[in-house]
Amino acid sequence: MDITSARKLINDSKTALKQQFDRLDEIALLGQRKVLDAFRRHGVQARHLVGTTGYGYDDIGRDALCALYADIFGAEAAIVSPSIVSGTHALTLMLFGVLRPGDLLVSVSGKPYDTLTDVISAEGKGSLKDFGVDFDCVELKIADDLTPIFDFDAISKLLTTRKVKAIFAARSRGYSLRQAISVDQIAELIKFVKSLSPDTLVLIDNCYGEFVQETEPTEVGADLMAGSLIKNIGGGMAPTGGYIAGKADLVQLAAYRLTAPSLGMEEGSYAYGYLPYYQGLFLAPSVTKNALKSCLLFAKTYEKLGFETLPRGNMTPYDIVTSVKLGTAERLIDFCGAIQECSPIDSNVKPMPWDMPGYQDQVIMAAGAFVQGSSIELSADGPLKPPYMVYLQGGLTFEHAEIALEHTLTTLKL
Ligand SMILES: *Cc1c(COP(=O)(O)O)cnc(C)c1O
Repeated sequence: MDITSARKLINDSKTALKQQFDRLDEIALLGQRKVLDAFRRHGVQARHLVGTTGYGYDDIGRDALCALYADIFGAEAAIVSPSIVSGTHALTLMLFGVLRPGDLLVSVSGKPYDTLTDVISAEGKGSLKDFGVDFDCVELKIADDLTPIFDFDAISKLLTTRKVKAIFAARSRGYSLRQAISVDQIAELIKFVKSLSPDTLVLIDNCYGEFVQETEPTEVGADLMAGSLIKNIGGGMAPTGGYIAGKADLVQLAAYRLTAPSLGMEEGSYAYGYLPYYQGLFLAPSVTKNALKSCLLFAKTYEKLGFETLPRGNMTPYDIVTSVKLGTAERLIDFCGAIQECSPIDSNVKPMPWDMPGYQDQVIMAAGAFVQGSSIELSADGPLKPPYMVYLQGGLTFEHAEIALEHTLTTLKL
């Protein structure tokens, strides 16, 4: 389509989204207030921003950052560390921190994220299974409007017939074709689990969930949650890292896994300093809002063109991912190409479908990010197979996403 039609379409979408955008502004205001209040309460000063070396004894920057995260998450304690290499690593520390041989872990949001499969069940790699931790999985039921529903009957049956050490659920939808899970639903799950089995822990994969709603899982009783710093909460500034937050004694157990049972969080330095971590946290509510608005703008616009999207243009997003059913390989390749061409970094690169380890089909990815693999920055990917679904996430600025959307509309043969 030509640029005039594209502009008109986008402007119509923005008008139609006014109410949802107002709601996202309110959530961001609340999040920003929470963050600023925590910075003030903890008396963050310039001396917290600089790093330490070696063992990192008395690293006040590290300690205050952990305290800030705990405060903002309404948790008793938190670990925030550049030494956690990714979300998968943070989730692994959470699981290995609290699970012991003979324990049973049950995922109640269906199959966990792809990279957790080996963590749970690979043979000979030091997985939970290798250490004698049993695993079971309860699928979600999906309503007609694609709202996920916990299978409380199946969960109840497990909790009353077996000793379940921990229940696990992910907020984000990953690559499934359903809405993400809301914090209200997680609150309901926790109440249900604790009423039947007070000692069973509830562990949450919080990736893509931070600042999407007014509350976080730890504020509604989750025992632990974990996430990545190159998604929402790093605000696009954190160069790497992950976090774990929750009950103090359990966070301590995760700290013993991160370092050593004799060390916990007493050690750990980062010579570069913590400036981007503090700054990113400060920006995170606003950056997440931009990503959510971007998500809805793509959804609304492609929906107007007759494509099936999720979330739909009138839905409340519960993570920052949008999928669009593009229908042909050509459109998927062109779409990712257009996103890449509109990236601040590597705009001259042409993304090609390739065989990715762990995937049956070829995958194409557009990622022109400042931080490698950062998906709070505008990025898109999808497997080269029908129905040629593209998954789009991020957008540090709403304006960037709008320009990229415009470019996809003028590039694709629509
Ligand atoms: C991103 C993500 C993870 C962890 O992925 P990393 O690439 O290791 O950071 C886990 N679960 C969900 C739902 C995610 O979105």
